[in-house]
Amino acid sequence: MKMRIADANLWSGLKSNWRQLLDKRPMPTDLHITPALPGPSGDLLAKPEGIYQDIHANPELSMQEHRTANIAATWLHEQGYEVTESVGSTGVVGLLRNGDGPVVLLRADMDALPIKESTGLPYASSKTGTDRFGQATSIAHSCGHDMHVAWLMGATRILSENRKLWRGTVMAVFQPGEETGQGARAMIEDGMVKRFPKPDVTLAQHVMPLSAGQIGWRIGTILSAGDSWEVTLFGRGAHGSMPQKSIDPVVMAASAVMRLQTVVSREVAMTDSAVVTVGTMSAGMNENIIPDRALLRLNIRTFKDEVRKRVLAAVKRILLAEAEASGAPKPPEFSVLSEFPLTRNDEAATHKAVAAFQLRFGADRVAEISPATASEDFGLFGTAWNVPSVFWVVGGIDHTTYANAQKAGKLDELPANHAPNFAPVLDPTLKTGVEAMLAAAGAWICEPGPSAA
Ligand code: ZN
Ligand code: ZN
Repeated sequence: MKMRIADANLWSGLKSNWRQLLDKRPMPTDLHITPALPGPSGDLLAKPEGIYQDIHANPELSMQEHRTANIAATWLHEQGYEVTESVGSTGVVGLLRNGDGPVVLLRADMDALPIKESTGLPYASSKTGTDRFGQATSIAHSCGHDMHVAWLMGATRILSENRKLWRGTVMAVFQPGEETGQGARAMIEDGMVKRFPKPDVTLAQHVMPLSAGQIGWRIGTILSAGDSWEVTLFGRGAHGSMPQKSIDPVVMAASAVMRLQTVVSREVAMTDSAVVTVGTMSAGMNENIIPDRALLRLNIRTFKDEVRKRVLAAVKRILLAEAEASGAPKPPEFSVLSEFPLTRNDEAATHKAVAAFQLRFGADRVAEISPATASEDFGLFGTAWNVPSVFWVVGGIDHTTYANAQKAGKLDELPANHAPNFAPVLDPTLKTGVEAMLAAAGAWICEPGPSAA
């Protein structure tokens, strides 16, 4: 039953959404966009690829990304960016000012997960460390944030080398602690809004188990809100042979876990959706000792504010009432492990980015996706400045592997983010993410070309 919180975390509910990625709705093409920034050459990709493999082999847990942040900062210095380090602990912000024009914020997250990698790749991680609960753990880049870092490195270099082709300011943000929901908040609390120029748009992308080279987009809500809680239930310890002397927190916890299953089935309308997962259930050490407490860690996903409020209230009500029903000596203690807002894509800004993707990649590689029950803290940047956000996904599964799984009806069996055997294929995933970031940024900072006027 015991499971680390991150294993059950962000992208885990996403697989069922892949197959719905087929609604290729045409986008308006009258936007003034030109694919002026060149795509990455093989030579240019060689260095980010080497750095990707190095970061993959040397992953760092959330809010501990010192080595990765140092690599990002060094890279930005080399490309001529003004670099600010240690923003919200290990965050790095690079500014490239290139005359009057829009400011675009390009964000990559840097953290890895407490997972033991089983990809068998030559650059697989064998690193270990200590997680935020003080537990020793293996560490792996099983969510692909190492790829996000490499994408942003490639894009920042091409922007730096092609300053004649664009106008404005690029703000490259290497963010810590996405998995735990701490990083964006930490950077904002460290003065992001006051210390750096206000962006016209904030842009971010995530690698996903789609066919490599595919881009997935969505207007409005693309990712769910995520709430994680730790709950301690209190009982009274006693000898295992004398239950009458105890208040058994194991039975209390078991009963609460079963009752929590009714929140989604009985309190959420059929037309809405939610997830309530108990990812950690821990109590006792010995078969003949009734412990005095039990620990639960829960993860809750919702797509609407009103549903979120109702589900959180129901979960709390049930845990309080189960403690009361068991005669607990005191009410449960609740602590918030993480809070992720809904990830909402601005309509006009998404149209603009998608039109640029279609120009760059062709309509066949760009598709609308359903909202996913994964969560992100990227939206906090757009909210902090009150500017539009656009978040999209990039496929990382080998094209043939994906096509075969699709034919066999086995897409759900492909490794997904947070699985120990998940890692994107380098080609064409690395190139696609660099190009996608440049295409989206270019929609704001490149002059309209003759063909688009
Ligand atoms: Zn992720
Ligand atoms: Zn993740």
